[in-house]
Amino acid sequence: MSQTRVGSLESLRRLNRLRVIDALRAEGLISRADIARRTGLSRSTVSSLVSDLQADGLVVEREETAAAFGDQGGRPPILLSFDASAGAAVGIDFGHRHLRVAVSDLASNILAERRLQLDTDHSAQDGLEAATELVAEALADAGVDRSRVVGAGMGLPGPIEQRSGIVGSAAILPGWVGVAAAEEMHRRLELPIAVDNDANLGALAEAAFGAARDASDLVYIKVSSGIGAGLILNGRLYRGAAGLAGELGHVLVDPDGLVCRCGNRGCLETLASSGALVELLRRSHGAEVSVADMLQLARDGDLGCQRVIADAGRAIGRGVADLLNVLNPELIVVGGELAGAGDLLLEGVRESINRAALPAAAGSARLVAGVLGDRAQVLGAVALVVSEADRTLLPESISRPIRRRR
Ligand SMILES: [Zn+2]
Repeated sequence: MSQTRVGSLESLRRLNRLRVIDALRAEGLISRADIARRTGLSRSTVSSLVSDLQADGLVVEREETAAAFGDQGGRPPILLSFDASAGAAVGIDFGHRHLRVAVSDLASNILAERRLQLDTDHSAQDGLEAATELVAEALADAGVDRSRVVGAGMGLPGPIEQRSGIVGSAAILPGWVGVAAAEEMHRRLELPIAVDNDANLGALAEAAFGAARDASDLVYIKVSSGIGAGLILNGRLYRGAAGLAGELGHVLVDPDGLVCRCGNRGCLETLASSGALVELLRRSHGAEVSVADMLQLARDGDLGCQRVIADAGRAIGRGVADLLNVLNPELIVVGGELAGAGDLLLEGVRESINRAALPAAAGSARLVAGVLGDRAQVLGAVALVVSEADRTLLPESISRPIRRRR
């Protein structure tokens, strides 16, 4: 994960600008005086910030509504609203074998989505070219001019070196190693780009669109070829000092276990990732069994497939129990391809939680399956621009004028 952050981002004026945007979003229609009351900022600061937002096309005055207030006597207040249609966000999700793109307005309404199959071992160049084309197609579908796009969020299913933004591990996306993904995408799309990992994007997506809408403290666990957790604490994504927060897949489960791609032994991933499960079934079910086959066979009553999925749930639950004790979230959302196993997986997770977590921590956390399926990451990439990027991309990019469509 490498955020497009700059040192000046936290400057007071930017934070104040965000408080004004938050007030506008929360209230729908609001006067300058009420923004001042709500944010605690001075009237003159609010006026100045609102002028900037108006110049960027993000705030409009609603004269017709303001006139209705005239009945109360005195000068009617001029009401302002945030114009979500003034800008758009793009989400891009790269997987092993797929590419997804979505376009939304600034209120997170999805305007268009596109999807494409990729070769498993596609090169980064091919992937980036395909994404560039797919973004153009999705923008055309949505009827959105590129000049209105405030930024693009991009998800990659692997570790991204913090400072360089370079894809680090060969195990997940072999064709991408050493590629500065955000920079390459930026060069092609000429948009501000924020990159994050798939688990973080899943957490953002379930919080913005899915199973976690009312939760402010939640853990999203992606169980696919890797296992990772996205943490939302106090309503904000928590990434840790170096972006490594939530590396649940590398929690030690069996000290004498298999060697993991990270170099340690017995990590959770070696026991409970989708690849590990298929590998376990090789002797009994043959080399050709895919993850989709395993899930279908389990649904059809195959005891071996049911067993490996339930055991994976129990192994994952041991890691989750520690997270519950440390973070005390209100909600755990399980996503990723193994979440397709439903209760078979979740019951194993619940069993270990009940055994290993503090009873109060276990009792206060609901455990649910994600509802967004394989759209979670692309929707999270959009959410990264729209909501999270209130703090990241948006203040950067709206410093350039956004041309309004006629
Ligand atoms: Zn590991």
